[in-house]
Amino acid sequence: MKLDVLVIAAHRDDAEITSGGFLIKMHDLGYKTGVLDFTRGEMGTKGTADDREREAETAANAMGLSIRENLGLPDAGVAFARENVLKVVGVLRRLRPHLVVLPYWEHRHPDHTHCCQIGKEACYFSGLKKLDSDGEPHRPHKILYSTYYRDVRASFVVDISNQFDRKLEAVSCYGSQFDRTPESKQIFSPGIDIFEFLRTRDRAYGIQIRRQYGEPYVVSEMIEIDDPMKMTVPSV
Ligand SMILES: [Zn+2]
Repeated sequence: MKLDVLVIAAHRDDAEITSGGFLIKMHDLGYKTGVLDFTRGEMGTKGTADDREREAETAANAMGLSIRENLGLPDAGVAFARENVLKVVGVLRRLRPHLVVLPYWEHRHPDHTHCCQIGKEACYFSGLKKLDSDGEPHRPHKILYSTYYRDVRASFVVDISNQFDRKLEAVSCYGSQFDRTPESKQIFSPGIDIFEFLRTRDRAYGIQIRRQYGEPYVVSEMIEIDDPMKMTVPSV
């Protein structure tokens, strides 16, 4: 198994909400994609960890993932600890992704912040030959940070206009969370239906690149443009 893209997320359904369109698009383009969830969702107000396992599998199929794994870390207890970094190193060495997507480094939920720190360190240490870990060294080429949950200026937006409907389908696989009852509107963002949230948020990012729908990402490095004549978004 050699993945092209691996999305690392704290909770089941994070990958769908923040990067569902991106994952479906990469699959459409012929790339092998996967998701590593850190936790099983046992702290959720609605549904059980077993419910969410079934839902995550259905959503994985809806997004065309080649693999979806779960690290089994405690929900609402993801610690930035060496042992957790090494667990992720083991996954990276086995799945060998070229591109890794992490949550942005600042988040309201500590699990997301720690997921970012653990993922970033793991990407680095995974390339060290003498690290005390099984598997051949592997360092992903690129890390993208999803800023979907944050109002941070994105480095770029991925056009997901052709994937947006399927993204909604993937999120709707989480029937235990988003069943359109009044209580489910309190889970994600109080008073707001998740599907309405996705529609407005993805639309707002899409507008910024003059497309229908988009998802935002930050990269730490400078972006190289080979031919500025081919830049798509007009300035005026
Ligand atoms: Zn989350």
